[in-house]
Amino acid sequence: MTPEEFRVAGHQLIDWIADYRTDVEQRPVKAQVEPGEVKRALPATPPEGTEGIEALLSDLDDIVVPGTFMAQHPMHFGWFPSNAALSSVLGDMASSGLGGLGISWESCPSLTEVEEVVCDWMRQLTGLSNAWSGAINDTASTSTLTGLLVARERATGLSQNAAGMQAMAQPLVVYATEQSHSSVAKAALLAGFGWDNIRIVATDPVTYAMDPSALADAIAVDVAAIRLPAAIIATTGTTSVTAMDPVAAIVDVARVNNVWVHLDAAMAGSAMLLPEYRHLWDGVEGVDSVSWNPHKWMGTILDCSLFYMRDVELLNRVMSTNPTYLRSAVDGEVTQYRDWGIPLGRRFRAMKLWFQLRIDGVEALQERLRRDLANAQWFSELVVSAGAPWSVVAPVQLQTVCVRHEPVVDGVALSGEALDAHTQQWIKTLNESGSTFLSGAVIDGRWMARVSIGVEATERHHLERLWLLMNEAAGSV
Ligand code: PLP
Repeated sequence: MTPEEFRVAGHQLIDWIADYRTDVEQRPVKAQVEPGEVKRALPATPPEGTEGIEALLSDLDDIVVPGTFMAQHPMHFGWFPSNAALSSVLGDMASSGLGGLGISWESCPSLTEVEEVVCDWMRQLTGLSNAWSGAINDTASTSTLTGLLVARERATGLSQNAAGMQAMAQPLVVYATEQSHSSVAKAALLAGFGWDNIRIVATDPVTYAMDPSALADAIAVDVAAIRLPAAIIATTGTTSVTAMDPVAAIVDVARVNNVWVHLDAAMAGSAMLLPEYRHLWDGVEGVDSVSWNPHKWMGTILDCSLFYMRDVELLNRVMSTNPTYLRSAVDGEVTQYRDWGIPLGRRFRAMKLWFQLRIDGVEALQERLRRDLANAQWFSELVVSAGAPWSVVAPVQLQTVCVRHEPVVDGVALSGEALDAHTQQWIKTLNESGSTFLSGAVIDGRWMARVSIGVEATERHHLERLWLLMNEAAGSV
């Protein structure tokens, strides 16, 4: 494709994207395909000749869009918001169009230095001190794994330089809670800790936040058994109920035992753009690594996970590679992001954040986040004031409201497995209608529904409609 052909096709694609985004609300929220349907619609063998952009746009309309969950639909309240601000989409396109090669500072100095500056802007915007330096990873899963790898190496005095963890006399232990994201256990397993050395620390029965005294007890048991407490994963904004682990108290426990603290703020990081919410990660200056996802509520198109460390020298020692074919005259003077994580090659991810911040502006972003937080409070009050059979089952910390509908059947309130079946059925009814979408989760052994607010297009009237739909769905099953 020549640049001139690209210009023509590119304009058509931009028009297609703008039309698609304009019409998103007219479409069903849930993807309208059965398993295997998209595959069956595609030829089994690759094309031999050439095809124009028109053929591709037509397949986008006929095959891809019906097979796409409408994450940008204002009636989407599932999982966590995964906004894709169009300003950041432009940045992503600029990054692809530039075709930069991110394997060293020399291979694309602007890629490195825009990333350094944008990470520093984000540091300032979330109130972190200038002790922190940041990089952009693909996902929080990678950031947690990176944090745990460095924690492992600190605990073992850089065992990787000799026989590694396998030579350690004491097993290394990681601490998390039942509410931690599944990526935490995955990272601990990949980093070699093993299931036997992952401790599930008790949480507060009301807030679901990690109990620091239970953490201290768990560490004491391991120390007494000659095991080595290596890392604690604290979470602000857990996935099921957005619980906030008490970071300052966890840091206090960690310090006594010289244990690494990684803070997973994948969801709540966006709220730290609002000074009035920063108390939710009080103590953050005492953790060792922290990450959060602008690709969630803040709205930078996936993938964009910020990862901050204070001891960058240690990070670089753990991650460093220095092959002859990558050496240059400026080594030692510049940031080499390949020494900040697992991959060598990196995309110009900072571009999408840079575009978003500059085009949308921080004030508008803050205003949108505040709108969503106010909507969540309003929705929660609506459910509470409606009363039985509805209830709000966890504190509303941010933009997620966890609810349950517990009807009385033949004079007896539904409970146990019958209540679970009822909850799952009304969520399914709602989701299959295509009008809206919620996801469920289990808390205290029972299913509940999560109303996760925060799609860029969601306004109060969408929540009013959701409430009507929820009542219809729950009342009819
Ligand atoms: N941590 C928390 C608290 C999350 O809610 C999620 C995803 O929702 C993750 C980590 C994983 O995020 P990612 O998809 O960026 O790996």
